[in-house]
Amino acid sequence: MNIDVDALVAGERRALARAITLIESGRPQDRERARALIATLPERPALRIGLSGTPGVGKSTFIEAFGLMLIEQGHRVAVLAVDPSSARSGGSILGDKTRMEQLSRAPEAFIRPSPSQSALGGVARRTREAIRLCEAAGYDIVLVETVGVGQSETMVADMTDLFLLLLAPAGGDELQGVKRGIMEVADLLLINKADGDLRTTAIRTVADYAGALRLLRKRGQDPEGWPKALPVSATEGNGLAEAWGQMQQLAQWRKDQGILDSQRRAQALGWFTQELEAGLLQRFRADPSVASKLPQLQANVTDGTLTPDAAADLALDLFLDAPNRP
Ligand code: GDP
Repeated sequence: MNIDVDALVAGERRALARAITLIESGRPQDRERARALIATLPERPALRIGLSGTPGVGKSTFIEAFGLMLIEQGHRVAVLAVDPSSARSGGSILGDKTRMEQLSRAPEAFIRPSPSQSALGGVARRTREAIRLCEAAGYDIVLVETVGVGQSETMVADMTDLFLLLLAPAGGDELQGVKRGIMEVADLLLINKADGDLRTTAIRTVADYAGALRLLRKRGQDPEGWPKALPVSATEGNGLAEAWGQMQQLAQWRKDQGILDSQRRAQALGWFTQELEAGLLQRFRADPSVASKLPQLQANVTDGTLTPDAAADLALDLFLDAPNRP
């Protein structure tokens, strides 16, 4: 597969799609090429926005309306999906083709479904690289969408500048069902479906969440009044401009304070650590002397002739080739 870097940088969607297919490939020779490709790409940082919400809350409807609004304002918008369910079951919560029909037809938009790769770590790497590719292709806003499953929200928050949580209008009891961890990474809670019969409930839900946010924390580095909760209606388009205004305000504030930069540097460092750990584990498992002795060590642990930590030490010695350790 040949990647036309010039076409990619010129913003041709086909070239971008092919490049993402390359980085999603698990073949070692493709890995090398992907790495080389990314190294040649120009740095064109976009605003990276993470978006999460449970199935049915209106993510695709929101992204379609929000994306079209941004395009109208002259932006180019890329949408990447991270769907841990597709890795496990092969089926995807986010995957069906009819999603975001209008947006996907817009020449200024690029939509890529979730890779159905094995581990979440693999999905993380591929998504980070896909973000880089979209940026190099001139998309100035990259939306990374995920469902509220497992660790995927934290993972997406770790690769974006702003994090949105889409919520349904609900009574006070349901409010507590939102995982604390996700509340802690969200910058903006958007209560969707604030229209028709649900509008009143949505407005009340906004107030409930705003109260909960005030109690929950004050992130040292955020300006007064953040994180916020706002009502939106993805189907009617209400509140989208306000939400975007708020996102821009927070992004600008973080930029002026140098926080956006330091956040990205911290994310890069986190990525480095993850890659290092994953690489070590992969090499450990592939090491022939480890592979030949590991079953014996496992047997020793199960029959009690070695303690787990002594066995782990021996296995590491095999890997590091240091048999004479005291
Ligand atoms: P997703 O699973 O989070 O991507 O949710 P969808 O975007 O597929 O929306 C799920 C359902 O909620 C669909 O029937 C939408 O028409 C509906 N929906 C989405 N946004 C709104 C909204 O703002 N108001 C109302 N009333 N319904 C909405």
